[in-house]
Amino acid sequence: MTSNVCVLGAGRMGSSIARTLLDRGYTTWVWNRTAAKCEPLAALGAKVVPSVEAGIQAAEIVIINVLDYAASDALLKRDGIASALAGKAVVQLTSGSPRLAREEARWVEAHDAGYLDGAIMATPDFIGKPETALLYSGSRDVYEKHKSLLFALGGGTSYVGELPGQASALDTALLTQMWGGLFGALQGMAVAEAEGLDLETFRSHLSAFKPVVDAALFDVVDRTNARRFAGDDATLASLGAHYSAFQHLLEAWEERGLDAAMPRAMDMIFRQALSRGRMEDDFASLAPLFR
Ligand code: NAD
Repeated sequence: MTSNVCVLGAGRMGSSIARTLLDRGYTTWVWNRTAAKCEPLAALGAKVVPSVEAGIQAAEIVIINVLDYAASDALLKRDGIASALAGKAVVQLTSGSPRLAREEARWVEAHDAGYLDGAIMATPDFIGKPETALLYSGSRDVYEKHKSLLFALGGGTSYVGELPGQASALDTALLTQMWGGLFGALQGMAVAEAEGLDLETFRSHLSAFKPVVDAALFDVVDRTNARRFAGDDATLASLGAHYSAFQHLLEAWEERGLDAAMPRAMDMIFRQALSRGRMEDDFASLAPLFR
């Protein structure tokens, strides 16, 4: 059972992590560039350390959550720190790319410490909840040894694999869904309002339509996984049918003078496939164009 944990970074997310650990009874050391941000945590029982070195020395597991890897590197990649890390477990919860995670793993392991890279699939208010997902990759030993602490941060925690970049890669892949949906909503609202519909009407119909969209989303993933690109009896709508409906949207955008940069990019992708005679194929047949 982990007893001593240090959280480097007491911003929105780092503070939520530290609060949750304190709430679960972990002895929690905290450090932040501006010490004032540690005060509310100290009031909850956190032990505020004057330096990164002191935090690392006090704890067996070091959780880092600062703005980005450049900030994290500036904290860690210094002489005194590197030697203090030996024998510790480092859990990097700062967002970064798969490449940064791989490089960090090499550096930490070269200093005789264990490395786990994490991706937080939640906002600070979700930390500590049973449904909250955090993804980890890297040292399986670190994950197994500190599992109860990691699960305290989110009951939906999972281990993605030993390659350190994989948690970040999965995070990036999943975030495409968020931005796809959010940009789609921005475009949808523009069309709705241009045609005199209010956004409450848009919202209520969006929620009714969502199960259909979700089903189509999982269908395109399953079909791509099976490389079932040709249209068949289970095809929900052929590429030709999708394209015909899509033309109405393009027309509406253009008629109302809305910004059509995104729909035009989608139109180009449709056209690439259709120029190769894919009219009857499944929507999933677009997948190879993204590789
Ligand atoms: P924040 O702006 O509230 O906090 C940033 C923290 O980084 C602060 O503690 C600040 O002191 C520290 N920092 C910045 N530059 C520094 C430097 N040069 N040296 C030392 N410390 C430095 O941001 P946040 O929302 O807490 O996000 C922190 C990390 O968590 C980011 O990598 C973010 O992508 C990730 N994250 C945040 C959320 C979220 O919803 N807020 C969700 C998932 C992941």
